[in-house]
Amino acid sequence: MSRKKGKLIVISGPSGTGKGTVCAQLLEDKMNDFSVSMTTRSPREGEVHGREYYFVTREEFERNIEAGNFLEHATVFDNLYGTPKDMVVNRLERGHNVILDIDVQGGLQVKKAMPEAVLIFILPPSLSELRKRLEGRGTEDAEKVEKRLGEALNEIKLIGEYDYYLVNNDIDEAVALARSIIAAESARVPEAVKPIIREYENENTEK
Ligand code: 5GP
Repeated sequence: MSRKKGKLIVISGPSGTGKGTVCAQLLEDKMNDFSVSMTTRSPREGEVHGREYYFVTREEFERNIEAGNFLEHATVFDNLYGTPKDMVVNRLERGHNVILDIDVQGGLQVKKAMPEAVLIFILPPSLSELRKRLEGRGTEDAEKVEKRLGEALNEIKLIGEYDYYLVNNDIDEAVALARSIIAAESARVPEAVKPIIREYENENTEK
């Protein structure tokens, strides 16, 4: 068989579920590459342009939308976020998996554009646990925590559109499960080869 293309892996889930930590651990595998998104939000302390995100102005972001440079883009918490298409396509062609840490709206757009993408949803153990984690971060005031919990519930309602879910009770178990999903998906017989094989079979029975 010709060289395998990589897998496009979408990781979504409400903020505070540990999605970032799961992605960071998956990236320790050299076959997994991270897709650096473009955003209009300001960098947080310690974030580096080109590493966590490409931080751009709204004008630049809109120019990229018009040029058709995004695989998907969405407004999240009042800022624009988008996945640059070229990098994703190049890495997949080279046989690398590409990990997208994006919200559910983005995940659904990716599924439409590339139905072969694998969508994994990360759930918190419970909403009360999520509340504890958000409060524990100390980065959001009470009003914002309530807003994030409301948004979390809206995201969770769309879980039926995803291929897999995992509950982040324990980070090591969550990462192990995500790795197993990627491994199994990489071993899947591609849909594209099935009709080719059927043609050979038909030819053989016609003889
Ligand atoms: P943060 O600003 O905290 O880094 O990310 C906020 C949310 O935006 C997270 O849920 C993250 O997964 C999502 N996000 C990051 N990059 C993208 C992107 O390119 N597209 C979409 N749709 N969501 C993104």
